[in-house]
Order: sequence, then C-alpha cells, then structure tokens
Amino acid sequence: IKNIGLYTSGGDSPGMNAAIRAVVRSAIYYGIEVTGIRRGYEGMIKGDLFPMDRKSVSNIIQRGGTILKTARSEQFRTPEGRKQAYEQLKKHNVDALVAIGGDGTFRGAKAFSEEFDIPVIGLPGTIDNDLCGTDFTIGYDTAINTVIDAVDKIRDTAESHDRLFIVEVMGRDSGLIALRTGIAAGAETILIPESPTDINAVFDKLEKGRKDKSSKIIMLAENGEAGDAFEIGRQIKEKFPNYDTRVSVLGHIQRGGRPSCMDRVLASRVGVAAVEALIAGHRNEMIGLIHNEIAYTPFEHATKHIAEINPDFLKIVEILAI
Ligand code: ATP
Repeated sequence: IKNIGLYTSGGDSPGMNAAIRAVVRSAIYYGIEVTGIRRGYEGMIKGDLFPMDRKSVSNIIQRGGTILKTARSEQFRTPEGRKQAYEQLKKHNVDALVAIGGDGTFRGAKAFSEEFDIPVIGLPGTIDNDLCGTDFTIGYDTAINTVIDAVDKIRDTAESHDRLFIVEVMGRDSGLIALRTGIAAGAETILIPESPTDINAVFDKLEKGRKDKSSKIIMLAENGEAGDAFEIGRQIKEKFPNYDTRVSVLGHIQRGGRPSCMDRVLASRVGVAAVEALIAGHRNEMIGLIHNEIAYTPFEHATKHIAEINPDFLKIVEILAI
C-alpha cells in the first residue's frame, strides 16, 4: 500500500477529526502517503482530493465536526457513480481507503470493494452507537455527555416550575442515546424504538408515580412508533391537564462540540489500527473496540443494526424512578 484515501461520510460526529489525525499521522509514520477526500463519496466522484501531510492535521484533535467535511451522495448508490469514483482514485494513485462513518458509509464501501479491487477499512464514526463490532462508536460518548448537560439544565427549570418535560434525543432507529442518558439524568421513563411504547403504560406510571415529585423527565428517542415528542406531549396534556407539560427537542447540538477524552482516545486507537490493518492485508472490515481490545468486523456484520438492548438498563430505570 502506497497511498491511502481518507474520507468522512454520512452524519458527522465529535471525534472524527481525532480519527483523521490518527490515520494521517500513523500512515506517515509507516511511510505511506495520504490523500484527503472532501465531502465523502460526493467529493470522491467529483475528484475533490488533495494530499495530506503531518501539518494538515495539526491542532484538530480537540475540534468537533470534520475538517474533511461530510455529505450524502445519491450518485454513489449507482454503479456509474462508483465507477467515476474509482477513476478519480486511480488518477490520484490511491490504492486503499479508510472510511469514517456509519452503516450507510460501510454499505457503500462494501458495494465499492465488490466492484473494484481496492481494500477499504472502516472506522465507526456516528453518535448513535448503532453498529455491531464495537462497544462504542466515535462521537457517542461526547453526544451523551452533551445530552445530560442539557437535561441537567432542563431539570433546573422543570424543578422550579413543577413541570414535566419530554426530551427528544437523536439516535436514528436506535434508542441507545436515550437509554444511557435517561439513566444518567434520572428520567421517569425512557421511550425507545427497541421496546414497543404503550402510551397507557406511560399514563399509568405517571398516575401511580409519586405525587410530590416536582419535576419529571421523559426521555424519548427520535423516530419511535409512538410519535415524536410533540405528539406524546399532546397525549399527556390531554390525559393530565393539571400537569404543566413541556417539550424539548435537543436536535443538532448533540452532534457538535469538543470530543470527550474517551472519544479522542477511541478515535486515536482505531485510527492507528486502521493503517496497521491495511498494511497487514485486512480489507472490508470495520475496526472497533470490544472489551477494550481492537476488533475487526466485516462490513456486512458491522451494519447489522443492534436491535437488542440490555434489558437490565430498562429495569434500572424502573427501579430508580420510584
Ligand atoms: P449516520 O449513521 O451517522 O447517518 P451513515 O454513514 O449511516 O452515517 P448514510 O447517509 O446512511 O450515513 O450513508 C452515507 C452515504 O453512503 C450515502 O449518502 C451513500 O452515498 C452511501 N451509501 C449508503 N448506502 C449505500 C449502498 N447500499 N450502496 C452504495 N452507497 C451507499
């Protein structure tokens, strides 16, 4: 391997820059060149490629977002789009790829590597933590800390006004952000796509719950069957007109900010491992950490959504909300 093409793709996540830095620096350490690809597959198709050196990743480890920018590309879903991308890579002498992104990014990488002889290694960059083959994804730790920081603030005002808040957090189809932050923020109940939401059970819980509790937080993952925070808020208001019910959708603040120490270290470890894996002949695998050890998972397994969540977590919420 002589020249690694490096890109970030799909939703951005804090820690992507630390991963970019780790890949660039370790490639240089091992005598390999790096070509940066801007805006993911979109930039690959358009030929937005440039050489990266040690200095191009100076002073970025602490920055959120991605200096390589990110995008979604419809064209890359077509064989013609992927062919154009391959031609651009050839033109720039790129003979291996490191992709930082989520499941869509890896599905694209898999399709690409089946058509063209170019090894790809993936790094899990998403706040959602919804990939198999790693205990945590780059950005998840920062995002959940952003969420609990916001919910702590909401709690202050909820407490002062005796309010019930429905807080909606990100996760795409996964409730992992809601589950962990719900426990950490002391939520009354957590509504996640992995376990069916029975609105009557929520009512029941509110009815039977301690009446002297002045603030209540319901943590809701986006895209659940039961509807969004406004829909759930409407139903609770209808059932409990006496409650002062409010909704807060945290939105994109969850994707930004300085990456936490955990995310920087994770990104640095898997970034170095990605380059070493390419040198050792690995291909079409995602690199993650399982039980604190580097783990290699084929793309087709990594992209299987984690549909199961740890039932102990839900029980903990149940027990601690009394
Ligand atoms: P996140 O989970 O944070 O949103 P992601 O990597 O899953 O990140 P997506 O938008 O799903 O984000 O995917 C990124 C890009 O990967 C898409 O815009 C598309 O160009 C490419 N891609 C996704 N699925 C495929 C596929 N089946 N074949 C080819 N390319 C694909």
